[in-house]
Amino acid sequence: MNQIEEKSHTLIFEGQRLQPISSEGNLVGFCSRCEAELLSLDYYSTGAGWIVSARCSNGHLILMHYDLLWNWRGDLDAEIVREKADLSTIAKEMLEAVFTQAEIRDMLACQQKLPYIRQNLYRARAKYQKFENLFGIKIDL
Ligand SMILES: [Zn+2]
Repeated sequence: MNQIEEKSHTLIFEGQRLQPISSEGNLVGFCSRCEAELLSLDYYSTGAGWIVSARCSNGHLILMHYDLLWNWRGDLDAEIVREKADLSTIAKEMLEAVFTQAEIRDMLACQQKLPYIRQNLYRARAKYQKFENLFGIKIDL
């Protein structure tokens, strides 16, 4: 399943991370699932073609895949996902408001695939929801 990150609209397509090159809302056809009109959300360049994300009025999300000459190649499925937080980019003060030093150290180690103490990560996990409620950032380790 292809994924689109909720905030940045980054498309993860065949392992590539693609940023939208345009976010024009155009009428781009009809939904293959319910036949309602499709409105484009974002345009992406894959290097070998183009992908247009579009949504119908019933909320179906479709990726339309085109070659470089805009010949339609087919529709692809996609889901919207929330960005995973990169802990190293979160201000230390924010982490420290919720987690202990040992928990922060082991969360970072886990994210960097270094050895960590499981128990600290378990304790940290119990506080992810609290962190999300406070700062609106979802941590998923
Ligand atoms: Zn639809």
